[in-house]
Parts: sequence; structure tokens; C-alpha cells
Amino acid sequence: MIKFNVPPYTGKEMDYIKKAVENQKICGDGEFTKKCNAWLEEKTGTTKALLTTSCTHATEMAAILCDIKPGDEVILPSYTFVSTADAFVLRGAKAVFVDIRPDTMNMDENLIEDAITDKTKVIVPVHYAGVSCDMDRINDIAAKHNLMVVEDAAQGIMSEYKGKALGTLGDFGCFSFHETKNFSMGEGGALLIRDEKNIEQAEIIREKGTNRAKFFRGQIDKYTWIDAGSSYLPSDLNAAYLYAQLELANEITADRMNTWNMYYDAFEDLEKAERVERPFIPSDCKHNAHMFYLKCKDLEERTKLIKFLGENDILAVFHYVPLHSAPAGKMYGRFNGEDVYTTKESERLVRLPLYYGLKKEETEYIIDKVKEFYHG
Ligand SMILES: *Cc1c(COP(=O)(O)O)cnc(C)c1O
Repeated sequence: MIKFNVPPYTGKEMDYIKKAVENQKICGDGEFTKKCNAWLEEKTGTTKALLTTSCTHATEMAAILCDIKPGDEVILPSYTFVSTADAFVLRGAKAVFVDIRPDTMNMDENLIEDAITDKTKVIVPVHYAGVSCDMDRINDIAAKHNLMVVEDAAQGIMSEYKGKALGTLGDFGCFSFHETKNFSMGEGGALLIRDEKNIEQAEIIREKGTNRAKFFRGQIDKYTWIDAGSSYLPSDLNAAYLYAQLELANEITADRMNTWNMYYDAFEDLEKAERVERPFIPSDCKHNAHMFYLKCKDLEERTKLIKFLGENDILAVFHYVPLHSAPAGKMYGRFNGEDVYTTKESERLVRLPLYYGLKKEETEYIIDKVKEFYHG
């Protein structure tokens, strides 16, 4: 069976975990956490990066930093993972969903302004498949209406918009290092902070509401409880696993990109024949080969394709069931405007296996089987 995903492993992870153990520092903010933070800052150009226990938690931190209060509204796509909404709903906000663009599956920037009310506080663009939303437009709207922007860049590490790293374009950016993402630490993530003024409070929230980070830098004599916070810092063991992959980030990305390009080129004919659609990458976006998907004619055809591939030992999967149609989505959210594309496009989309180390022969076999389904 060709798996849909295999967690990334480069070979150095075990050495680094051993090193963390030998350091006798396996709690948070040890050697490897610091190395990961520094790598993220250097690579993305963000003012500050803080490793977290997940992308969900990074987004929760962003929600606290945006001072989300019960009754506030946040604008996000319905076609996303539950965490995008959860982080804000947990603080009492209402999720206001807008429709997506059918080409990128990202929130339609032209529908945001209509969803704004006097309760709106934050816009949460999700960069689906590591392909950027229209961030210039979204930031313009945010500035005009005095809103914050929190990027769900869970899938967006190494991707760019007009030459700038995803996660650095809004007030806050959130990465995921879950095992299904390009680089992993099992469970984990990072919060990127654009403005200097938000760093100190972010450090406090992440460290149980204490000014411990300042204490360890020798800036104060003792640390104390100064705000409401939680424990959002991961163990250095997890950071050690991640650091091995960050060191090989270019190699991992190039490997994924090879597979992605093989798929993309191979299905050109099927697209021309109007049997499937391939992902669309806007010209000002650089993507990270996080995901390769095809869009079938409809739900029925997709179900048949997934079944056919399964019978041929290939695990292909569909993706999000739109949040506004889920029980919690109905309870905590509302869809603004009409659902023209969210449901329709999500039902057509199928993701093909894509991971670091997927072999060329395997990719060719998958391509052959998809072609066989359509031609055979
Ligand atoms: C993976 C993912 C998340 C959640 O990441 P965790 O690190 O598992 O919390 C959030 N949003 C999107 C779009 C994702 O793909």
C-alpha cells in the first residue's frame, strides 16, 4: 500500500534527541528550541518566532494577543481545519465564514468587506496547500477597518507571497509541525510575531503568565505571575526532532517539489481534456509542495476514483468537510453570503500521496493508475 503520508525523517533526529537528553534539559526553551526559533527568524525574516506545542496553540496565543472577547467576530473561510475556528471560538468569538475562490481554494478577498460588522476584530486567511491568499488586498481591508490579521500558515512554511515568507504578512502567523506537515516534531507549531510591541506579552502568555523569559535573559531578578497565561512551549525533545529537518529544509522541499511537478506535468493532458483540474498557483506566489490535489467532475466521480486507487494499493484522501456544515460550525458560526464554491469545490477535491521520500516509481505508478481510471 502506498501511504498518503509518511512523517518526515532525515536520520539526524535521534542524534539530536540524544543530545537534548545529555544536555539534561528536556523541558521547553532548551538548546534545540532556541535553534529552531533562530532558524525560523532567519529563514522567514519575522521579528520573533516562538516554537509552540501546536499550530492550534499558536493560533490560540494569537487570539489572546488580539484580545478576543466573547461576542467578537472573526472572518475566516469555512473550507479549513477546525483549529482555525477553535482558537477564536474558545475565547468566545463568533466565526463568520466567507466563501472561497475556486482556483486556489483560499478565502475570496472580495467577499471579506461584506462580512465586516462593528463586532469584527480579526481576519484569518488560511493559505491552503501552502499557496498564499491575496495578502495585499487582505491587509488593505484590515487597515481600512482597523482589524488584526492572523495568518493560518499551518501548511505554509517555505512558501512566499511577492518574495515574502508566509506567516510574516499579518500581525501574527501560525505554522504547524504536525506529522502531516512538510517539517515535523510530532505535534508542534510556531507563532510568528511581526510587531516588536507584542513580543513581551506573547512570551508571558506562553510561559504560564509569568515573565520567566525575561528572567532567563537576566533582565529582571526574579520572575512572577503577571498575567493570565498557559503552557504553550514544547519539550526540547520535540524541538530536537524538528531541528534535524529544518537543517535539511531545502532538500526536503526539493524532494517534495519533484513529486509535485511530476504530478502536475503528468495531468496536463487530463486537464486539457477537461476531465480534471490541477492546482492553480498565482504568479506572485511561491509554493512549498505541501499538497497535490486534483479536482474531479463531482462527488460521485471522486468517490469512485478514491475507491479505484484504494483497490490498487494507493491511499488517496479527500479534505475538509466545510466547517459551516458541521455541528459546532452551526453553533459557533455563520456563513456570510452565499456558499457558491465552498461545498461544491470541496466535494470534488482529492489529494494524492505526497511526502518526503516518496519514490519516483511510486509516483509514476500513482500517475498511471489515475490515467487508467480516466482512460481505461
Ligand atoms: C494542520 C493544520 C492546523 C493545525 O495544526 P496543529 O499543529 O495540528 O494544531 C491548522 N490549520 C490548518 C490549515 C492545518 O492544515
